[in-house]
Amino acid sequence: MDLSLGLDKISGIGPKTYAKLEKAGLRTLGDLIYYLPRTYENYRTTTTIDQIRPGKVMIKGKPDSLKTTQARRRHLSITEGVIRDNTGAIRVVWFNQPYRVRQLNPKKEYYFTGNYDFKYGKYQLTSPAVTEAAEVSETESSFQPIYSAKNSLTPLFFKKLIHKLRGNFAAIPDLLPEENSPNFAQKGSRADALYSVHFPETPEDVKKGRNYLAYEELFEFLLAAKLNQQENQKLNAIKLPFNAENTKKIVQNLPFKLTNAQRIATWDILRDLEKPVPMNRLLQGDVGSGKTVVAALAAHQAAKSGHQTAILAPTAILASQHATGLSELLEPFGLKIALLTGSTKNKPSLKKKIKNGEIDIIIGTHALLTDDTTFRSLALCIIDEQHRFGVAQRHKLLQKTALSTPGFAPHLLSMTATPIPRSLQLTVFGDLDISILDSLPTGRQPIATKIMPEIEMQENLYPALREHLKSGEQVYFICRLIDDNDKSKTTDVKKLHKKISKIFFEYNVSILHGKMKPSEKDQIMQDFLDNKVQILVSTTVVEVGVNVPNATQIVIMDAEGYGLAQLHQLRGRVGRGKKASNCYLITSGEDQPSRRLKELEKSTDGFYLSEVDLKLRGPGEIYGSLQHGELNLQIATLADTKLIAAARKHATEFAKHPENMVKYKELNNNIKKYQQLTTLN
Ligand code: ADP
Ligand code: MG
Repeated sequence: MDLSLGLDKISGIGPKTYAKLEKAGLRTLGDLIYYLPRTYENYRTTTTIDQIRPGKVMIKGKPDSLKTTQARRRHLSITEGVIRDNTGAIRVVWFNQPYRVRQLNPKKEYYFTGNYDFKYGKYQLTSPAVTEAAEVSETESSFQPIYSAKNSLTPLFFKKLIHKLRGNFAAIPDLLPEENSPNFAQKGSRADALYSVHFPETPEDVKKGRNYLAYEELFEFLLAAKLNQQENQKLNAIKLPFNAENTKKIVQNLPFKLTNAQRIATWDILRDLEKPVPMNRLLQGDVGSGKTVVAALAAHQAAKSGHQTAILAPTAILASQHATGLSELLEPFGLKIALLTGSTKNKPSLKKKIKNGEIDIIIGTHALLTDDTTFRSLALCIIDEQHRFGVAQRHKLLQKTALSTPGFAPHLLSMTATPIPRSLQLTVFGDLDISILDSLPTGRQPIATKIMPEIEMQENLYPALREHLKSGEQVYFICRLIDDNDKSKTTDVKKLHKKISKIFFEYNVSILHGKMKPSEKDQIMQDFLDNKVQILVSTTVVEVGVNVPNATQIVIMDAEGYGLAQLHQLRGRVGRGKKASNCYLITSGEDQPSRRLKELEKSTDGFYLSEVDLKLRGPGEIYGSLQHGELNLQIATLADTKLIAAARKHATEFAKHPENMVKYKELNNNIKKYQQLTTLN
């Protein structure tokens, strides 16, 4: 069976259906076969209504008297009725699923799967999933796949379509190369694995099949990274010689002593820059660990050999802070530094200077990426908060080196303040070089963190904040942006702004959220930085790298609603100056605070917290929110270190003979999407 065959060539799929499949991103037979079930139902576990017990249940019955009412709260509709079988009837309720009334035919039998619980004074089955009984064929295994719906294509549609292909599964060729394949994990064949996942008899079948497919996926990803690393080694980069004398001068001129971690990272980077192959390095350091000065020293080395550096930052504020910082540091040494953002005046004249090489270091936002920004000789690219940028943007920046110096790729330094658990680093970034700033500069004032129930704010928080405001310090309030979703208890940024403005009427209180125009946001941040505004009520848009050393107090509303990493980032907005800081994690007070919040109260170490996060959430979740935001592993999780180790070994061995790739067309094609993520050209 040729998996690259277009689905339009399959008998039974007409043009209309094909159009729908295509819209759902499914074009080839392979796309369809890899559309794996979302979950499975075991129809043997059905209970009769007279036997029902609270908890997760599956019953087979007919719906009756379904009707939808609109709750007083505008956004909530309630669909309720009963389900009957031969032994009795129970109450059923769905929230915000009014289509159930149309969907369910009182004359037909269905399987209902959901939670049966005591709620609002009655027992009821809440928001159950529904499968028509006729769809569950009695002749098949009673353990059956459930597919996700896609656009207008129903779960049943997929089930039937894939079922039709059942006889062809045996002819699916293997994808993985035989060369160097370890015995482990590769036992069996792809044909068997896919068959087990779509047509399992037992949960063990699914597990075995998914395991094989996970190995396949990891192999592809790791092979792509390995090949890229090898390709990158073949590219040319501009050599930027290290000059001890020059570097020393700058370091001695710093208003502080470099931390050990900074010294080691800088050394590694400056050494990389000397080589004729492009550096591809990730600099990881917690908020406030001092990544900027490391970047500055690298840019300085490039400038001293007559080449340019581009620094890309995700927001105008951040870019402008970098520009200020770097100017202070490097202009005394004769370097020319410029800022290019959307609001930069007289862009054409600045761009001309960049093109002529009159500017050594150009710092900017997306505005830097336009085609008309060209360099005389771009040797080094630095991307701050790199996970904020997509593959395409990164590519655009890197391309500018090839334009100025054909045949060359830039040295690349990516920076991130999201610490990645050490235990994951090898798997996620195994083929990047990594530098870590794992200690904060000495003399940093600690941030005292406190969990506080909302009702205590009046009595315990506001007076404390007022004291800090009186001594000239500034305050952040963080909450969600919600317009009027009264379903949840979360605090609305606009309401909070009103409230805080009243309470602290003697101070200037501003509001900041993501729906504002970039220029508006920048203005407000600037006002806060200049202390024209003393209290900033904001959504999480302040999360990224902003440095306002005079802000020492941060109050995070509905703290339970955020992840550990995000809370840590938010907290990093304070503790950046000479004074001690406070972080308040506000909770509803109804329940015991979560482990997450308690850990935050105890520790300010980002690496420690990332390990805790890993334990609490598991690697899959963490991975998703990491740098390779665009890399979405579908099947594998990083929990299976054995599988990863095997796939890595296999991929590394195989990559030693890239010429073998031609034999594996499908593999070759599949890995392209991963290769985009780490390539330098
Ligand atoms: P981040 O890693 O979050 O980007 P920054 O580079 O913005 O951190 O540095 C945070 C602050 O710490 C800046 O004000 C910077 O001048 C200061 N800083 C950096 N390195 C040191 C050091 N070794 N000792 C003291 N202060 C430092
Ligand atoms: Mg920074």
